[in-house]
Amino acid sequence: MKIGCIADDLTGATDLALMLAREGLRTIQTIGVPRAGLDLAGADAVVVALKSRTNPTQEAVELSLSAAEALKRAGAQHLFFKYCSTFDSTDDGNIGPVAEALLSFTDSDFTLACPAFPANGRTVYKGHLFVNGVPLHESSMKDHPLTPMRDSNLVRVLQRQTKLSVGLVSYEDVEAGPDAIRSAFQRERAVGHRIVIVDALSDSHLRAIGQAAADFPLITGGSGVAMGLPAAYRQGQPSTQSTETGFEAPGGRSLILAGSCSAATRGQVKTALDAGIPALRLDAMELASGAVSAQTALEWLKAQPTNGPALIYSTATPEEVLAVQSKLGRTNAGEIVENTLAEVARALPALGFTRLIVAGGETSGAVVNALDVDSLSIGPEIDPGVPWTRSLAGNDLALALKSGNFGTPDFFLKAWNMLR
Ligand code: ADP
Repeated sequence: MKIGCIADDLTGATDLALMLAREGLRTIQTIGVPRAGLDLAGADAVVVALKSRTNPTQEAVELSLSAAEALKRAGAQHLFFKYCSTFDSTDDGNIGPVAEALLSFTDSDFTLACPAFPANGRTVYKGHLFVNGVPLHESSMKDHPLTPMRDSNLVRVLQRQTKLSVGLVSYEDVEAGPDAIRSAFQRERAVGHRIVIVDALSDSHLRAIGQAAADFPLITGGSGVAMGLPAAYRQGQPSTQSTETGFEAPGGRSLILAGSCSAATRGQVKTALDAGIPALRLDAMELASGAVSAQTALEWLKAQPTNGPALIYSTATPEEVLAVQSKLGRTNAGEIVENTLAEVARALPALGFTRLIVAGGETSGAVVNALDVDSLSIGPEIDPGVPWTRSLAGNDLALALKSGNFGTPDFFLKAWNMLR
């Protein structure tokens, strides 16, 4: 196995698995630390999807280390720690502490941190992260329910999370290509930095960074920075991955579960409502009081037409989310919604639902855990960073796990057209 990856959420894992598969590595995604006996033979890349982004730091570190151990046991030559392209974290972590723990796990003393994903509008310039041209702290990420991002300077953001010294390899070095990037890594390391934020504005920057970092025991970043690694690992050998043709999905009913409140998801919910998709909105306060429950949603679902997708969503505006959080608390509000959607999901296979779109990283984690799926194969890309996937064991399901802010406004309408 060339590369073993640890992703801090499920949609991020899928995004990375898609990137590695597209760049020619035979890739399997596991949900959680792979159980002993799971067949990973023949995989060039394994992506372990954790749900550790917003856990207490110590827990996130322990989960990441057990994933690292499992990947190493399965023969991983390099490790990759994947987080969100909007650097979702708080001052407590978990990006810094997990990177620190994985550095010592790999017996190395230097790594990079690059969340850039230009295809999705995430660029890093002079250490500052931009989302579709807007500084991170002015983007909708400032209002994220769990990890509000209020500082665009990633050197500062990461430095608050780690005792290791954080440096910067900026645009000029990256633009000059792999050799200049390697020299910049040496320069930063020589002055004592142990993690460097790396600028990237384009895919060619990402490929150059991948080449320069191909011999690192540990790389950290978004899925973008993994773009150049497969080619660098192959060293001129042809790709082993056959190109995906069409995507067979199990027959059955279709459902969209949206627990993301991100701007892109809000737009996608609106587009689906405007298109007349049968929809049920779950109100967090009503869920908390017990006035509405997963059972209510399932009764509603049973009454919907079987020939098209339905939508169940808790998606709300930042103002509504704030109002709910001020009454229920941030974590509690999130858990109430996630648990409800998970409970709905648990009942779906028995009701004949086999084709699911889930919107939201945390939400997807909760839903897929409830669906008893332990590994996924990667299918075609619906929008940048979001493929269709199919479960490899257990309930036979086609799943599109969409990070909240990914996808075009008609994502909930068009994704179905790729299924056979
Ligand atoms: P994204 O990928 O957009 O960040 P996530 O699913 O990761 O989406 O995070 C959204 C969080 O917001 C989840 O914990 C979810 O349960 C919570 N949430 C969803 N709807 C509401 C709501 N109406 N009020 C408060 N919190 C909500």
